[in-house]
Parts: sequence; C-alpha cells; structure tokens
Amino acid sequence: MTIRHISGKDIHHITSGQVIIDLTTAVKELLENSLDASSSQVTVTFRNYGLDSLEVSDNGSGIQEDDFDQVCLKHATSKLTYFEDVESVSTLGFRGEALSSLCAISDVAITTSNKKLKPKAYQLTYDTLGHLSSKSLISGKVGTSICVSNIFKNLPVRRMELTKNSKKEFQRALTLLQSYAIINTCVRIMVIHIDSRGKKSVVLSSTGSSMLRNNILSVYGPNGMYGLEPINLEVNLKTRFKLKSTEMKIKFTGFISNCSFGQGRSSSDRQLWFVNNRPVGLPKFSKSVTEVYKTFNHLQYPVIIINLEMDPVYADVNVTPDKRTVLINNERLVIESLKEELNALFTNQDTRIPLNEGA
Ligand code: ADP
Ligand code: MG
Repeated sequence: MTIRHISGKDIHHITSGQVIIDLTTAVKELLENSLDASSSQVTVTFRNYGLDSLEVSDNGSGIQEDDFDQVCLKHATSKLTYFEDVESVSTLGFRGEALSSLCAISDVAITTSNKKLKPKAYQLTYDTLGHLSSKSLISGKVGTSICVSNIFKNLPVRRMELTKNSKKEFQRALTLLQSYAIINTCVRIMVIHIDSRGKKSVVLSSTGSSMLRNNILSVYGPNGMYGLEPINLEVNLKTRFKLKSTEMKIKFTGFISNCSFGQGRSSSDRQLWFVNNRPVGLPKFSKSVTEVYKTFNHLQYPVIIINLEMDPVYADVNVTPDKRTVLINNERLVIESLKEELNALFTNQDTRIPLNEGA
C-alpha cells in the first residue's frame, strides 16, 4: 500500500463537512459571528426552510476592507493569535473555520460596511476555497450580511437528508436560535421564514431587553415565565469544599421551575444550559438537576434556563468543532453546589407532589 499526502484542497473539502454538520451548525456559526461583532440587532432569514438560502444580517462592526481577502480562508480569524489565547478567549468563535467551511459546501456572499466605509458597502463573493471571487461597491449601513445558498450542494447524502427533513431541521435550528435569543440580553434577534411562494413570516422576535426574564417572555410567549423561580448562586469552591489549590469561583444565574409547575413527562425541551453565555449541552448537570427535581415532583420535568459563569480558564469549550461539549474543572463539585442550592429552594417551597398521585 502506498501512503500519499491528501492535497490541501481535498483536505479542505473533507474537513468542512465536519465543521458544518447540518443547517443548525451553519446558522449557529453565522449568528455567533454577528454576536462577536458586537451587534445589537441580528436578523436571520431562512428561504424555503434554509434549503434555498440562509442569511444572517447584523448591525455590528462590519469587516475591514483589508480583511476581505482572508475572511473566508481556513483558520483565518480576528479573534485569536496564539494557542495559549484559547484559555481566556471570550468570543464565541476563535477557530477561523466556519466561513471557509461554508465556502466549501455552499455559495457564500457577503455584504459589509464599517464606520470608515459607510455609506458605501461592499458585496463580496467567494469560491469553494474561500478566495475572493468578486467585489462590487453598493450603498449600505454599517454591519454585515452573510448569505449561504445551496447548502451541502456538493455533499449529496447530506443535501438529500436536509431536503427530506427540511421542516424538522428548520425546527431544530429554530430551537437553538431561541436559546441565543434568550441569553443575549441587549441584542434583538429576529428570525424570518420565506416559503417557496415568497410568503414571509416572523417566527421569532426577541425585544433585545437587558433582562433575561423579558427575553424568555418574548421567546416563549406570555406564559413563558409561569412557575419559574430565579436562581442566583455564587460559590467559591475553594472555601466551600476546602480545596487545597484552585481558587475557583462560580456563579449560577437563571430560572428553574418551582416544584409544583414543571413541564410534561416526556418533554425536556426547555432545558437550556449556558456556560459564560454560550449555549452548551451539560448532560450531567441536566441529569442531576432532574433527579433533585424528581424527589419533589416525580410527575414532571423542570424547565431549566441556567447560565454558569466562571473564569474561562476552568472551562474548555474547544472539545468539539461545535463547542457544545464543555469540560469543566471540578465538575462534580460544581454540580454538587447547584444540587444543594436546589434542594434548599425546593424544600422551602415544599408543595411536594405525593408519590402515589397520578401513578
Ligand atoms: P471565527 O469566528 O472563529 O474567527 P469564522 O470563519 O466564523 O471564524 O469568521 C472569520 C472572521 O470573519 C472572523 O474572525 C471575523 O473577523 C470575520 N467575520 C465573520 N462574520 C462577521 C460578522 N458578521 N461581522 C464582522 N466580522 C465577521
Ligand atoms: Mg465564527
């Protein structure tokens, strides 16, 4: 057997499908870029459930003219310079892979303007390798709009799956967008769907309020806060658990169902976890919190909207390309402190649902 090097171009195509796994990852990456650009307003537009196109427009800082050539190149980023920076990075993105991967699997067009350029803006298109292929001057506001058309055009299996399940995939993307709309206080996030006949509908619209509770109401509707109790817990793990070394301070904020008003037996939809405002999956946290909840209300599951804040050096988000898996130092103790807090909270409410009820 002969071992050969795969060409850079082929590596690019192979790895891009792993960075942009599905419609949800594509929209997540674009939205995170808008949030990293300090936008206060972001509009996401899906055409035909994202099959035709997906466009994310913001009023953020815009892209500098000098960066037009490299913005879509692999591992080109304005957010990180050295590996060591990963530990303390506060932006949602930092790997410089999203736009280049999108170029490899779809058609990418960018319109952008910044303080220096306005009222002029540039319309840019890129080829599959992320090289700038056209540039034209138009008029436009400060901000960036990135349009991704024909997603997975050269990955037939994925394109077919998306076509078959387009409504389901769109719903999944929408669920993720809801979590960003909730946690991003002071950012107005709007999601629009335009169907194949051109009919436009607003499917999500947050107010951009500075209060988490208002964002929950704008995303989940007027009953969205019903039965939710606030959580506000600060713990110094070193003093609390008598740790020898690490000075690790953590803070939990958000809401959880009180023990009389959870959500349905099979529904765990509204269980949103964030680490330093980043929507993530924390399955061990969900399991532990649900266990505590079940001792007070065995019939239901809690609605959970909890943000865990800590120094980023204690939370490694660079585990998977989508950054939804997080490794947390002293995770067991972090969970323990939350469980104690919830036990105390629910014991105070103690409207425990008897074990035989509804059984
Ligand atoms: P990353 O976010 O990891 O840096 P991306 O491929 O997502 O990598 O984006 C590459 C670069 O493009 C970013 O670092 C940023 O400088 C620029 N960029 C992308 N989207 C926007 C946007 N909406 N507004 C301003 N700059 C953007
Ligand atoms: Mg990014």
